[in-house]
Parts: sequence; C-alpha cells; structure tokens
Amino acid sequence: MNKTIFEKIISKEIPANFHYEDEDIIAIDDINPVAPIHILIIPKKRIETLNDLKDEDFNLVGKLFEVTQMLVKKLKIDKKGYRTIFNCNEDGGQTVFHIHLHLIGGKKLTWPPG
Ligand code: AMP
Repeated sequence: MNKTIFEKIISKEIPANFHYEDEDIIAIDDINPVAPIHILIIPKKRIETLNDLKDEDFNLVGKLFEVTQMLVKKLKIDKKGYRTIFNCNEDGGQTVFHIHLHLIGGKKLTWPPG
C-alpha cells in the first residue's frame, strides 16, 4: 500500500510544523488552514477511516483527545473555545485516508457547516 502523506510526515520524508510528537501520535499545522489555528492530530498507526476502527484502537482515539486537551491549554483557546472534526469518506469531505482530528480555533467559527 502506498504511503499516505501523513505517513511521509511521520517518517520525516516531508516536512511539517510539529506541535507535538510521542510514540503514538503527531500534531502538525494543516498546510491549508481554515482558521488562525488549524492543527491535525494524527495517530502514527494508519487507520483509513473512522469505519475501520477496531476495539483495540479506541484507546488511541482517546489519546488524540488527550493531546487536543493539552494543546488547547497551551495555545490558550480552551476557555474561548474551538472545534474538533473527523471527516469520513466522500460526503464527510475526507481527502487523506489516514484518520486525523482537525483542531480548529483562534476565531469565532460559524455553524452549521455547509
Ligand atoms: P481531510 O480532508 O479531513 O482528509 O483533511 C486532510 C487535511 O490534510 C486537509 O485539511 C489538508 O489541508 C491537510 N494536508 C494535506 N497535505 C498536508 C501536508 N503536507 N501537511 C499538512 N497538512 C496537509
């Protein structure tokens, strides 16, 4: 299977602006931000879509939120607010088939999305 763009970032084949890294997770700036803060929190394990999560992966998904909580405090947007999104498949607007949590904030966000 060809590497996803995120696997190439994880292996440092292509650059990204890292906010966090541990043995399971990276957090990087989105290359095409939709708000002043747009960070992708990505498991190192490649899981193509939310539909492919197995029982053993739910702990890892919880860790994505643990990293999110740490980052929003560090960036001081925890009190003002922010949004977290997982896109899934075509209708959800997923373009990279390696699950990732979008952390978006730093401005007043509109709702509902289109
Ligand atoms: P999604 O559409 O939910 O699959 O999100 C994929 C996200 O990855 C998009 O917001 C892209 O802007 C972002 N993206 C694609 N390539 C890169 C890259 N090389 N570095 C950082 N973010 C990227």
